[in-house]
Amino acid sequence: MNNDILKTLYSKEDIQDACRRLGQQITSDYKGKKPIVIGVLKGAIFFMTDVVREMDVYIDIDFIDVSSYHGGTASSGSIELVKDVELDVKGRDVIFMEDIIDTGRTLKYLEDLLAERGAKSIKVCTLMDKPEGRVVDAKADYVGLEVPNEFVVGYGLDYKGMYRNLPYVGVLKPEVYSDK
Ligand code: 5GP
Ligand code: MG
Ligand code: MG
Repeated sequence: MNNDILKTLYSKEDIQDACRRLGQQITSDYKGKKPIVIGVLKGAIFFMTDVVREMDVYIDIDFIDVSSYHGGTASSGSIELVKDVELDVKGRDVIFMEDIIDTGRTLKYLEDLLAERGAKSIKVCTLMDKPEGRVVDAKADYVGLEVPNEFVVGYGLDYKGMYRNLPYVGVLKPEVYSDK
């Protein structure tokens, strides 16, 4: 698996530093509150578990799953709700945990969905932001790392379901796209 990587963009240590910084920021912003932290499956689970353990805040945890990519490297444009949250978000402070914001379509969809259900506040914490990919107006409140307009894998991010368990973030060798 490691042999398929052309270059590393962010090391395990870079990611750990980012998670610590975000956890501290969220801790100071949510003093006295009890937000629902919602992980966007599946890409955000590694990031989410690392960040919440850096937070000194009472939280509820939930998960949501949406699909937009359908296995390739380009976003399809339409978002589909695959798995809904279980908790009632009405009147609650919500923090979404995302792996990466690219076009912004997923984020916009999620924010609209929970705003419609009466969430009191909605913030977004993302491991990575790809500002050049933006198609719709969407902005994360907490950003770990910025990435260039390249397709990245690792630390939760996949290509055809693979590479999520890489402990770092990198770019695949071009030949990998034709092989698998
Ligand atoms: P958006 O809706 O902002 O375009 O993208 C949302 C989702 O697309 C992300 O949560 C992620 O699952 C996927 N995505 C966007 N850019 C990348 C990338 O560079 N690599 C991988 N593996 N997934 C990406
Ligand atoms: Mg995602
Ligand atoms: Mg994916």
